[in-house]
Amino acid sequence: MKFIADLHIHSRFSRATARNLTPENLYIAARKKGITVVGTGDFTHPGWLAELKEKLSPAEPGLFKLKDDLETACEAQLNISGKHPVRFLLSAEISNIYKKNGATRKIHHLVFLSGFTQVERLNKRLSAIGNLKSDGRPILGLDSRDLLETTLETAPDALLVPAHIWTPWFSLYGSRSGFDSIKECFEDLSDYIFAAETGLSSDPPMNWRVPDLDGITLVSNSDAHSPSNLGREANLFNTALSYDAIYDAIKTGDPKAFNGTLEFFPEEGKYYHDGHRKCQFHLHPGKTAAEDQICPICGQRLTMGVLRRVEMLATRAEGETPPLTHPYYSLIPLAEILSELLKVGPKTKKVNTAYEKILEMLGPELEVLLHTPKDALADTGILLLDEAVSRMREGRVHRIAGYDGQYGQVTVFTPEERDQRLGQ
Ligand SMILES: [Zn+2]
Ligand SMILES: [Zn+2]
Repeated sequence: MKFIADLHIHSRFSRATARNLTPENLYIAARKKGITVVGTGDFTHPGWLAELKEKLSPAEPGLFKLKDDLETACEAQLNISGKHPVRFLLSAEISNIYKKNGATRKIHHLVFLSGFTQVERLNKRLSAIGNLKSDGRPILGLDSRDLLETTLETAPDALLVPAHIWTPWFSLYGSRSGFDSIKECFEDLSDYIFAAETGLSSDPPMNWRVPDLDGITLVSNSDAHSPSNLGREANLFNTALSYDAIYDAIKTGDPKAFNGTLEFFPEEGKYYHDGHRKCQFHLHPGKTAAEDQICPICGQRLTMGVLRRVEMLATRAEGETPPLTHPYYSLIPLAEILSELLKVGPKTKKVNTAYEKILEMLGPELEVLLHTPKDALADTGILLLDEAVSRMREGRVHRIAGYDGQYGQVTVFTPEERDQRLGQ
C-alpha cells in the first residue's frame, strides 16, 4: 500500500519541544497531515518509553498503534474527509560527541528498532555510557562507529541513519562538527549505512551532486518539536505495512517500494546561505571565496551554509545525477500558504479555521498539497488557494534564504501581486 512516513520527531522529554507532544497528539497530528507511519522519537528516555508502553499496542509486525480507547477519543476530536490508519515505529535520536583525528565531532543519528525488547536491550547498554534521563535526545561520548556497532549487536534488524547530514553544528557532513565522508565516520561498518537524512536546508538535487552519497537512500523527516510541524518533510512508501518492509525499502532504495520524499524548498531551512544571524548578514556562497568567511559587519566568522558545504563535497555539476534517484516534491506547509493568503500569522485562529475547513472538505493536508485538483481547491471559497497550490507544485515560488539558525521564507506571491489579485 502507498503511505507517507515521518520517522524523526521528538517527544516533550526533549529540550525545546512543545509540552503537548503526547502519543495522542501525535496521532491527531498524523491524521491531520495524512501520515500513516510516525516515529515515536525519544525511545531512549525512560519517561517517554513508559508512556509509549502504556499507550501503544502491537499492530503489524514491528509497528504499534494507539490503544483502542485512546484512538476512539482522538477520533472524536477530528473532522477530516477520509480515514487512514496511524502506526508508530520505535525511533530515537542520539547525539554523539567525541574526538577523532584531532577534532571534536558532534553528530546526530536516528535509530529505529522493531520492538520494545530491543529498545530495552539497547537502552541498557547506552545507559552504561551516558545519561539517558536528562534529555529525550541523549548526548553520548561515544564514537559514531561504536554506536552503530552497539546498535547492531543489540538488534541485527536495527537501522541507524545519520540525521540532517548537512547541519553545520551536529551532523555527519557538518562544517563545524563532522567528516568529509561516510567512511571516515563509520570505517569498517560503513556498509551498514544505507540511508541519510537530508535535512530541511538541502533537497535531493543538491545531494545528488555528492558521490559519497551514491547508493545511499535519501530520506526526509520533519524533526518536529511540536505536533503542527509533523510531516513538513516525509517519505513516500509503497510497501506492506511492517517494520521489515519499511527497513527493506530504505535499505535497497528500490524505487517501487521507496517512492521518494516530500521536501521543504531548501531556502526555507535554517542553514541554506552562509551568514551571521546577530548582524542579519547572509550571502550566497557564489559571492565569496571559502576562505573569506568573515562577517563584514562585526568581523566574526560566518556560519557556513549547506549550499557551500555541498559545493565543497560535490564533484558533479548542478543538474548532474547519480545512477539511481527518487522523485521528490517541494511543499510549503498549508498553514503558511493560508497565512500568506489571509494576511495573518500562521498560528492565528483565522488560519486555523480555514485549515480545518479544508481538511473537512478535502482530506488531510499532504493529500491536499500533493493531489487535490485545482477546482476542488477553488470550491473551498478561499481566494487564490487554487492558484497558490498549483504554483507551489510547479516550484514557482519566491524564496528568501535562511542562514545561521534563521529560517528562510518561501512565499507564492509577492505582497504586491497578492494584494492586487485579492483586490479583484
Ligand atoms: Zn538532531
Ligand atoms: Zn556579524
